[in-house]
Amino acid sequence: MLFNAPDTHLVPFDGRFAVDDFATAPAPDGPSKSELKAELADLVEQLHELQRVLFADGRYALLAVFQAMDAAGKDSTIRKVFSGVNPAGIRTTAFGAPSSLERSHEFLWRCVQRLPERGKIGIFNRSHYEEVLVVRVKPELLTRQRLPRVAPETIWDERLESIRNWELHLARNGVVVVKFWLHLSPEEQKRRFLRRIEQPDKNWKFVAEDLEDRRRWDVFMHAYQDMLRQTSREHAPWYAIPADWKPYTRVAVARTLVQVLSQLDLAWPGVDERQQQVLAQSRAELLAETESPAEQRNNE
Ligand code: ATP
Ligand code: MG
Repeated sequence: MLFNAPDTHLVPFDGRFAVDDFATAPAPDGPSKSELKAELADLVEQLHELQRVLFADGRYALLAVFQAMDAAGKDSTIRKVFSGVNPAGIRTTAFGAPSSLERSHEFLWRCVQRLPERGKIGIFNRSHYEEVLVVRVKPELLTRQRLPRVAPETIWDERLESIRNWELHLARNGVVVVKFWLHLSPEEQKRRFLRRIEQPDKNWKFVAEDLEDRRRWDVFMHAYQDMLRQTSREHAPWYAIPADWKPYTRVAVARTLVQVLSQLDLAWPGVDERQQQVLAQSRAELLAETESPAEQRNNE
């Protein structure tokens, strides 16, 4: 085990996950909106501190992957959860349909380019998993990839195996991979789509393909279920986060990240004896300098 995955919302590692067994909304007797807001503020502060030590420690990188149906709240979750982290320490990538350059490489290539270096946090808003989700649901996308051979009966298992192996390789090399599936109900998606259509400042967010994907909801859920069964593993766990109520979604994601990062053996770099001497000598040299008039004024 590379780290202990916290178990609230954890997708089991035994390949038995069923979409219908996981809720899209939190329990009704849970914390109120204002309690969740207060908890989020606290978690955001903890993430800020954890990112500082992640960077100073310099041995690990964190990769947070977000996948979901449209309007599940990926963007706003990312915005809120990482709102306290130093922007210099994070890189977010939103993966859309691949460019022709990207399609002329194997499917993991474009994601490798966007991996976080040691000390950094990488956020994937959609990811390599689109290759076993939208590409599986819409076979015409696979045709465009110009693969030398496609065996329809094995291609998805092969891709899922490639992803598992790649993520194991990353984990062994210090990239902590944590994956979030924001689990939205079709009813809540309908409400959010209607809001996008009815509010002029949200119109730009709505595209016709959104409804196309919605019409294929069951096919998507089948693809998600297979993906979650085959790729939630100790080295790269998936979390199925209820997404119908955003205040809860944000807290659940932030809490998981705090738990995962807190379990790493992160440490501030120590200062050896030689460096201690350098510090002492430098201090003495600075103090021995003749004070400039400005310093004299400041010290008065
Ligand atoms: P929003 O919630 O704002 O709509 P979004 O993540 O849906 O954000 P868009 O730019 O609307 O962003 O959509 C990106 C599109 O790119 C999605 O429809 C997604 O399925 C598609 N896409 C991503 N990766 C691939 C891929 N590897 N192959 C084909 N399509 C992809
Ligand atoms: Mg979209």
